[in-house]
Amino acid sequence: MIKIQTLKKNNRMSTQELLQTIYQKIREGECEFEIEACGQHDIGGAVRGKDGKDLEFYITNPGQRVGAMAMDGTRIVVEGSAPADVGWLNSGAEIIVKGDAGDTTAHCAAGGKIYIGGRVGTRSGALMKHDPRFEPPQFWVLKNTGSFGFEFMGGGIAVICGYGCDDMPSVLGNRACVGMVGGTVYVRGNVEGLAACVQQVKLDKLDKDFLKSGMPEFLSAIEKSELLDELLDFSKWSKIIPLPKEQKVQRIPVSEFRKTEWFEDGLFGDLVEDDGKVYTLAQEGEARIKKPVWDSKLCIGCDLCLNNCPQKAIIKDDKVYISKDEKCIGCGICAAVCPRQAWSLVKN
Ligand code: SF4
Ligand code: SF4
Repeated sequence: MIKIQTLKKNNRMSTQELLQTIYQKIREGECEFEIEACGQHDIGGAVRGKDGKDLEFYITNPGQRVGAMAMDGTRIVVEGSAPADVGWLNSGAEIIVKGDAGDTTAHCAAGGKIYIGGRVGTRSGALMKHDPRFEPPQFWVLKNTGSFGFEFMGGGIAVICGYGCDDMPSVLGNRACVGMVGGTVYVRGNVEGLAACVQQVKLDKLDKDFLKSGMPEFLSAIEKSELLDELLDFSKWSKIIPLPKEQKVQRIPVSEFRKTEWFEDGLFGDLVEDDGKVYTLAQEGEARIKKPVWDSKLCIGCDLCLNNCPQKAIIKDDKVYISKDEKCIGCGICAAVCPRQAWSLVKN
């Protein structure tokens, strides 16, 4: 076992120094590391042991992205908590955080197992995916998640045990599973504010069998085996899965989306003042962000601007070039093609 202390007196080893030290030791055939970190990033990720040896990392006080892009054959144990991006794009490692984990835990995870002994932050489990050639990724959390979890989840299995969260209105925070198209989120406890594209249903026998088989390993990893009976009482469990395609909510016009989702308790309801007016993508006239101004002293009359304006907004009147406000969208193509920089875009 190689021990690495990353802080000696006031000298902190940089992330690069630490990672290069680890890689060198792996090349020498080492495969077990105990790392006293002080915020260094990316520990345990994207490495394989020499000659196919398994790798083990025991880490305290890591920085972001512990086990990011970690490979099968890697086991990472974090004593205590870890900040954001634990197991980002995990490709097969077993990653255990005994305390809480930050935002975007298991983001994009594609394989392996991630076990969290506390809570996880927002957008955790987002974009999890499953390549059917491999086992699906698993993501187990003892307590709850922050909001916006499991956004655009495409596959894999998440298990949110809701331990000690009975008083919470939602153990998944708000707006979980937006855009979810695959995979399963098992959840124990209250859930509200789910996206309209998913359904919350009861567990069937296969679901219960899965939880029964996986729970002992999870609890053992986070050293909470005494909770087994409590967490395998299925009375508070349900699962969230995507709605079948035919039941999916129909697309709505942008104007309706803005009214019902964007504000009025929607995404940015309490942050922006908005008159709700829907603009077309490219604005003409008064609504342009920029407008072109022509300088007669620079122009050599080559007509390049005239011929390239996508709006046919430029007219030539006795060697004077004019951009018509009512047609111009402020795209700047006239300025870009002009060999003399006779057009300049100014704030409208
Ligand atoms: S800014 Fe675009 S639309 Fe306006 S005059 Fe120039 S090229 Fe035409
Ligand atoms: S491209 Fe420039 S130089 Fe040519 S006509 Fe237009 S403004 Fe004049």
